[in-house]
Amino acid sequence: MKYAILGDIHANLEALVAVRKDALEQGATHFACVGDIVGYNANPVECVDIVREMNCVTVRGNHDHYCSGTDELTGFHPLAADVVNWTRSQLRPDQLEYLRSLKYVLPVQSFTLVHSTLDNPEMWGYVFDKLEADANFNYQYTSVCFFGHTHVPLAFEKTFDVKFGLYEKIKITLGRKYFINVGSVGQPRDRDPRSAYVLFDTQRGEVTLRRLAYDVQKTQRRIREAGLPAALAERLADGR
Ligand code: ZN
Repeated sequence: MKYAILGDIHANLEALVAVRKDALEQGATHFACVGDIVGYNANPVECVDIVREMNCVTVRGNHDHYCSGTDELTGFHPLAADVVNWTRSQLRPDQLEYLRSLKYVLPVQSFTLVHSTLDNPEMWGYVFDKLEADANFNYQYTSVCFFGHTHVPLAFEKTFDVKFGLYEKIKITLGRKYFINVGSVGQPRDRDPRSAYVLFDTQRGEVTLRRLAYDVQKTQRRIREAGLPAALAERLADGR
C-alpha cells in the first residue's frame, strides 16, 4: 500500500488540490491526515469536503478542535482567534459534526497518527527536540507514528538514543521507532513556501517527503477577499 500522509492543510484549497494531484500521480492508494484541516486560510468548507471525499483517515488538530467547538479562545494569538471565529461561521453543521468526531490518536494499519504528541495529545505540545520526542516514544506502540502541529518536517528515530533532523527519505529499520513530522500542506514554516507531504510505501518501509509549488498568489487573494488578517497571506510567500 502506498499512503499519502497530509498534515496542517489549514483551509488552503490550492495547496490541497495540488497535493492530491501529485499524490495520485505518484501512485498513492490511500490517504491519511495528521489534523488541522481548517484554520488560517480562506477555504475551510471546500477543504473539509475534499478530505472526506478522499476517504482520508484523519485525527483532530487544535484548529479542528477550536473551530468546531464553543470553547473560549483564551491564550490564543489574536490573529488566530479572529480566524477561528470566522471559520466557525463558515462551516456547515455536518462539517462541524465531522470535525467534532475526530479522535486525538488513530492507529492505521501498521502506523499511528497524532496531531501533537502521544503522551498528552489534548495538551497540543510542540515536538522540536529529543526530550519532547522521547516523552512521546514512551507511548508509541507502532514502529512508525506520523505527526504535525509544528509545520516543520523533522523526523526522530529512537534506538538507544534519539536522533533527529530534516529528511528527504527514510528507510524504516525493524526494531526501531520513528516519529515523523509530515510538514504542512497549507502553511509551511521552514522558510520553504512549497507544500509538504509524505508518501509511505508500507511494503518497502520507505518514507519520502514531497515538496511542491502551488498557486500561492491565488490563496493570498482569497485570504484578502475573505477579510482575514493580511499577515496570514504574507507569511505564505515566505514559508513561515
Ligand atoms: Zn497547524
